[in-house]
Amino acid sequence: MPGSILDQLDQKQRNRFQKHIGILAWFLFLTLASLIFLLPFKRNEKIHLILLVLVSIPYASLLYFNLIPKYEKRPILFHTILGFSSVLIGWAHYILGPYQLRIDKLYAISIIFGSIFGNWKSVIPITVFSIGVNYLVNTTLIDSRTSQYIMIQAFDILGLSIIGVVSGLIGYTLQHFNQNRTRQNRSLSMLVEASRITSTSKDLETTLPQLAANIAHGLPATSCRIAILDRTKKYLLDYGVFPLHDIDNPDPNHKEKHSLDDLPNHRKAIEELTIVFIDLEKDQKALGDKEKDLLFFKDVKTICIVPIHQKGQVFGCITIGEAKSQKRKVIPPNKMELLTSLAKQTASTIRTTQLRQDLRNQANRLAVVYDVGRAISRTIEIDDLLELIYEQLSRVIPSDAYFVALYLPEEDALDLRILIDNEKRYPPQKIPTGEGLSSWIIETHQPLLIKDLEEEMNSLPVKPIVVGDDKITPSWLGVPLISEEDLIGILAVACYQSYAYDESDQSLLEQIAQQAALSIKNARQHMEVKRQAKLDSLTEVYNHGHFIEVIHQEARKAKEEDTPLSLIMLDIDHFKQYNDTYGHVVGDQVLKLTVQAMKEHVKSTDVVGRWGGEEFGIALPNANIEQAEMVAHRIRKTLAELPLYDTQGEPIPKPTVSQGIATLPDHSREIDELIIIADRALYRAKEKGRDQITIAKQG
Ligand code: GH3
Ligand code: MG
Ligand code: MG
Repeated sequence: MPGSILDQLDQKQRNRFQKHIGILAWFLFLTLASLIFLLPFKRNEKIHLILLVLVSIPYASLLYFNLIPKYEKRPILFHTILGFSSVLIGWAHYILGPYQLRIDKLYAISIIFGSIFGNWKSVIPITVFSIGVNYLVNTTLIDSRTSQYIMIQAFDILGLSIIGVVSGLIGYTLQHFNQNRTRQNRSLSMLVEASRITSTSKDLETTLPQLAANIAHGLPATSCRIAILDRTKKYLLDYGVFPLHDIDNPDPNHKEKHSLDDLPNHRKAIEELTIVFIDLEKDQKALGDKEKDLLFFKDVKTICIVPIHQKGQVFGCITIGEAKSQKRKVIPPNKMELLTSLAKQTASTIRTTQLRQDLRNQANRLAVVYDVGRAISRTIEIDDLLELIYEQLSRVIPSDAYFVALYLPEEDALDLRILIDNEKRYPPQKIPTGEGLSSWIIETHQPLLIKDLEEEMNSLPVKPIVVGDDKITPSWLGVPLISEEDLIGILAVACYQSYAYDESDQSLLEQIAQQAALSIKNARQHMEVKRQAKLDSLTEVYNHGHFIEVIHQEARKAKEEDTPLSLIMLDIDHFKQYNDTYGHVVGDQVLKLTVQAMKEHVKSTDVVGRWGGEEFGIALPNANIEQAEMVAHRIRKTLAELPLYDTQGEPIPKPTVSQGIATLPDHSREIDELIIIADRALYRAKEKGRDQITIAKQG
């Protein structure tokens, strides 16, 4: 019932109220039914009464729960329904008349209650109408009554009419007063509620839907949407929608995104900072189809778009929609003021919440940087470290593509060690510097943040090149890895969406890069120390200890793979004479050059080690006796051509070497034994007069 007290209750209270009414109706029905049986009515009157009860109680329920709510907007039907009710009462009056049961008193009371708690507008005509019907029923049906009785009846009816009209007026006054107060209360309570919601706001995802519901209830209006501009200021993201019709997707974190290009009225409100009011009943074309489809239900009547702004900064807008099916008039001017202050309140909530979120993010990021630092400082192996840096990056700055590259100054190239694009990992690759965004970072030692490649293309200091997926990434963020002014490499992330990164991401990446650069430098130093520990300092081939370790590994591998492994033991002939004749410096030089010549004739998978003094070992995986012999011959030949000079620059005799060869598994299955066998072969070469190659004896 419009304007009734019921209408001012919320849905929950209304349901409870209706439930109570239902219980009361049943209680009344049972009481009346038992009364009929207990009271001394005549048989046919009992039937009448039972019929009356049977008809009137379900009728009353039907009237209350279905007909009135359904037809309340059609006065003729409404009055007919209520008129029929009065006929029912008249019927009861007729039957109970002889028993002096004045049901009309009950009727008077029900009119008074109806007026006060029901709808005053309906009560007055109903009173007059139903009393008329009542009178007709009584005078036509009660034929044995005297005219005096009819007169009394007429006075009664007049009295009832006066009661009806007076109580209707009282009801009107009460309700009018109540409505005004409620209206004011509503506005006030809407503001109070908005303050409560905003003051306890933790995040916009929970606050804005509450605010939207509060505004829709408080105005009241059919729908309310609170949308916030995204970083690009090109899209509106739905944060609060009331009623939430997206049942399939009730996730509050999922925000519908609408392009402002599709929403000209919203754009106007946001750009001009004015309230845009659209009355579709006056101008049907005021709202484009997309704007209507995206933001509202089909039977929209009016729309009011209020920009959310504060101190010149615009955050988004509140959009209020009213459906045609609603009888409510358009939002009155005083409500506009209310909306403006609500928008201001929303603006400050968004601002403070965003600030708080920024602070929280900042704190989180600091924690992350600390974690990253701790994790990477524990890792000392360079490849593990780069992998870890990538893992931490993907955790902190989720992206579509990641680049971790080391700078190789001697080659002036970038060693792209980790390249992940669209979840696909590409093999490491070297790219020469000179072009592309990374090279620019290498050259300038500066970070580079691209928010939207297309927009910034002309103002970019460098043109991008494509690595990884053959797809342009509109968002790109790269920072140099610098440690103590040494450029170590770069870290970069990219996204297939524009505006994926902002300055805070850049500063986060820079902090990570700082930690990473330091760790990479440490790891490199550690690697160098480890490398040095394995090498002989003079000749830079493996030292005795590491050579033994490696040939054991190679022997294991050869056994597993059932492949041969040859070992050459090499000793420089009469080396002592170099020292004695030309001095130790020249001796050292001869050693170095001999090793160089050896290295030239072996593959990168072959292993060269200094066995001690001027004796060397060469392990040749996957090489049989003949192949090993060929290598030995090549070494011998090269040494014979090696140009050697003393400290005065005078040429000196070229060194010769004796070599002993043994092969796994031909000579032995055990590497330790193979070493002894090769050594024996070497001594046989010495014995035979030096400068020759001896293959170990079989068996
Ligand atoms: P042989 O043909 O029998 O192998 O004669 P040899 O002189 O080469 O062998 P011997 O073992 O008698 O002498 C090896 C010499 O190598 C002794 C040592 O002074 C010298 N030597 C060992 N290590 C180095 C080194 O690092 N630098 C220099 N300059 N000499 C070294
Ligand atoms: Mg020697
Ligand atoms: Mg020797």
